Amino acid sequence: MPLYRCYGCRTEFEAAKPVCEACGMDASANPRDKDMVVRLTVIHFDPPGRRPGVGLNHAACDASIKLGAPKCQFTSEPVAVTCPKCKESDVYKAADGESGGPSEAFLAKPVRAAKAAKTNDCGGC
Ligand SMILES: [Zn+2]
Ligand SMILES: [Zn+2]
Repeated sequence: MPLYRCYGCRTEFEAAKPVCEACGMDASANPRDKDMVVRLTVIHFDPPGRRPGVGLNHAACDASIKLGAPKCQFTSEPVAVTCPKCKESDVYKAADGESGGPSEAFLAKPVRAAKAAKTNDCGGC
């Protein structure tokens, strides 16, 4: 299903038509509103790999979707991800920070912050 972003209430949603369920914005009903609901390109999250700066080269939501697959776009920046399924993945959540948004440390150094989140699992050694 196509992915849309509503600028009326700033949500992203999947739907057959550009009509926002959250606030009722219907981009096709009024020409004035046609830019209020825009179709998004699905951008998958490329999870950070073991080497800094190098991703795993596949989508976080489905490892069978490889980097370079036709009609698929990828990013290693959580803020740029639009794929709803990638946003549900654990690797995305770890990279995106626990507060619901990327931490300042992550924005400054994307790969290191993602690694730090993983090494915290060692139990305090
Ligand atoms: Zn809306
Ligand atoms: Zn995805």
